[in-house]
Amino acid sequence: MNETMQETWQPHIDAAVCTGCGDCVVVCPTGALAISGGVAVVLDPDACGYCGLCEPICPVEAVSLPYKIVVEDSAWPIS
Ligand code: SF4
Ligand code: SF4
Repeated sequence: MNETMQETWQPHIDAAVCTGCGDCVVVCPTGALAISGGVAVVLDPDACGYCGLCEPICPVEAVSLPYKIVVEDSAWPIS
């Protein structure tokens, strides 16, 4: 991987689907999640270790765990 590329991981929570049950908040070992406004939110993205526990525990499949690769403009074109 080019050293100017950065991988970032962060759960995505579909607020339209989340029921606010809190299961994902309880299972998260790092305190990255919280309930706010009746739905789960990623309160502390930097705390997330991307362990994956929050996705399967959600009873309504509101949590997904995508990741993105961020590439600085100066990195292009990658040779
Ligand atoms: S992936 Fe793991 S550390 Fe990250 S928010 Fe979900 S349960 Fe917490
Ligand atoms: S487990 Fe699912 S429904 Fe429950 S608070 Fe988390 S995202 Fe919302």
